[in-house]
Amino acid sequence: ALLRHFSLAQLKIFYYSRSLEPALNQLRTEGPIGFVPTMGALHEGHLALVQAAKDAGCLPIVSIFVNPRQFNNPEDLRLYPRTAAEDLALLAAAGCRAVFLPEPAEVYPSGANIPETHLGELENRFEGSFRPGHFRGVSEVLYRLFSLVKPDFAFFGEKDFQQCAVVETLVKAHFNNISLQRVPTLREESGLAMSSRNRRLSASGREKAAAIFQALQQAANGRQQGLAPNDAIVEASRWLELAGIETEYFALADPLHLEKLNAWPQGNAVLLFAGYLEGVRLIDNLRC
Ligand code: AMP
Repeated sequence: ALLRHFSLAQLKIFYYSRSLEPALNQLRTEGPIGFVPTMGALHEGHLALVQAAKDAGCLPIVSIFVNPRQFNNPEDLRLYPRTAAEDLALLAAAGCRAVFLPEPAEVYPSGANIPETHLGELENRFEGSFRPGHFRGVSEVLYRLFSLVKPDFAFFGEKDFQQCAVVETLVKAHFNNISLQRVPTLREESGLAMSSRNRRLSASGREKAAAIFQALQQAANGRQQGLAPNDAIVEASRWLELAGIETEYFALADPLHLEKLNAWPQGNAVLLFAGYLEGVRLIDNLRC
């Protein structure tokens, strides 16, 4: 309890960039800034990013901002879980040093100059094709947050695999001094990838959703069994059908540009999945 109290005393909360900036400059004298951008409704997956920042010797700084520009579906934005009080308690206990909780007007003041980031085909594939404008919104919010926080390191989860590739493109274009770190996906015991959206599933939905990881693993095993990727994916999709999961895409892709692959490559590949269960959109992936 004492430790928790100590951590709470260390956690500073900022709503405005004009007060965040001097506080960050003060923190910078203690060590490198490790930035973890989130949309809140925090879970252990997010805390794994905070831990990764600490492991890298950084002072963890978290932002909580549900970015309206990355939602193509207004209902999804409206229903996105918001749990600020719990989030702050979790972050304090995790040893986070500062939280930035801005309003949209703070992130997007009128006249803010946000240069375009050329994402190329990354913008149209998989997530991009089912969520038009999504990655443009992600690039815009991260451009603004990186400009305000000026981190030394930034931590992103591989759960959002395509997002990692988008952030790499953004950083190469505009933020050469930020070191990007990818953190492996944290999963429930069932294999279900932790996600803020899991809160919207019923108890039985959460059990059924474990079929996503099972299907990804089965498709990856198809490689050893000598199946073509598309056949392996069709076979594995039975798990999803049985669980009542409606697939949006389930495909093999190259991990850099997310180009769809119809044959197993020599090197690394990734299986990508998106679909719906109980009206909730879920994504996951598995390197193979
Ligand atoms: P979000 O709040 O969903 O925008 O996620 C914020 C960050 O946490 C992103 O970099 C996500 O990829 C990462 N993240 C979300 N879920 C997980 C997870 N289960 N394991 C690891 N990282 C995660």
